[in-house]
Amino acid sequence: TDTILEVKNLSKHFDLGRGTILKAVDNVSFSIKRGETFGLVGESGCGKSTTGRTIIRLYDATQGTVKFNGKDVHKVQGRDLKQFNRDMQMIFQDPYASLNPRMTVGDIIGEGIDIHKLLSGRQRLDRIYELLRTVGLNEEHASRFPHEFSGGQRQRIGIARSLAIEPQFIIADEPISALDVSIQAQVVNLMKKLQEERGLTYLFIAHDLAMVKHISDRIGVMYLGSLVEVTEATELYRKPMHPYTEALLSAIPIPDPEIERTRERIILEGDVPSPVNPPSGCRFRTRCPKAMPECAQITPELKEVEPGHHVACLLYS
Ligand code: SF4
Ligand code: MG
Repeated sequence: TDTILEVKNLSKHFDLGRGTILKAVDNVSFSIKRGETFGLVGESGCGKSTTGRTIIRLYDATQGTVKFNGKDVHKVQGRDLKQFNRDMQMIFQDPYASLNPRMTVGDIIGEGIDIHKLLSGRQRLDRIYELLRTVGLNEEHASRFPHEFSGGQRQRIGIARSLAIEPQFIIADEPISALDVSIQAQVVNLMKKLQEERGLTYLFIAHDLAMVKHISDRIGVMYLGSLVEVTEATELYRKPMHPYTEALLSAIPIPDPEIERTRERIILEGDVPSPVNPPSGCRFRTRCPKAMPECAQITPELKEVEPGHHVACLLYS
């Protein structure tokens, strides 16, 4: 099968005590094909990081399943668990916070090799040098410490570390959000190159649609813990269907001044409601410019309304 990851009805709720439940992720389903990049987009607090962290087992699932290469990730044990820990890796938004400041870059990159006892001595060192070159750094960098590098270089170190044990699947949680715009494209291009060379699959998490545009094959848009639209990237930019996606897209500037001048910008009123007490019916209704009376009563489900194009909105049912 060419499906590498299958997320089905996944929920992750946090019990905050005194009967308060935070529904960070609520009934999310999607799948990712081997070798593709799935962009997961939404405002901060929409549950995209929690989704990523639940997929890689940093959290248990409250409900639903995550299958990786056909196996339920929250049930794997023994050898399968060891293999899972090699096959799936994560890179983070703030590479500095995730790199141990007291370790040399060489040891940071070599850590996974050591934990999994893959190589030692000269072979280990050669592998570290090769990884440094792969991400556009060099051998001399191995003996230096993270603080000696720029943000973009630190993200390259984070990528080299994630590649050290030859994973199949990488969850990149806002890997370019903290970087200067000029550096963002470099890191995206590096990730694309590595994907082609190694057949990697990515779950690429970002908070706006501009960031995932050049890397995603398909995109899922999240709002308040739920997926509201999933489709091919080109289709999403050409023909967004969910009112929330329309608003997100309208916020991206278009380089052509002619189009930019005539374009309508959709400004969403109000704040994202609390996931502790989400609105009834459609969760987007308190901010939706197209909300109808029934949107307060009926919870729209994610449905395939055109081939490969899934939308959760009552306008399409
Ligand atoms: Fe807007 Fe109603 Fe569609 Fe929700 S279901 S996105 S409130 S039109
Ligand atoms: Mg986040």
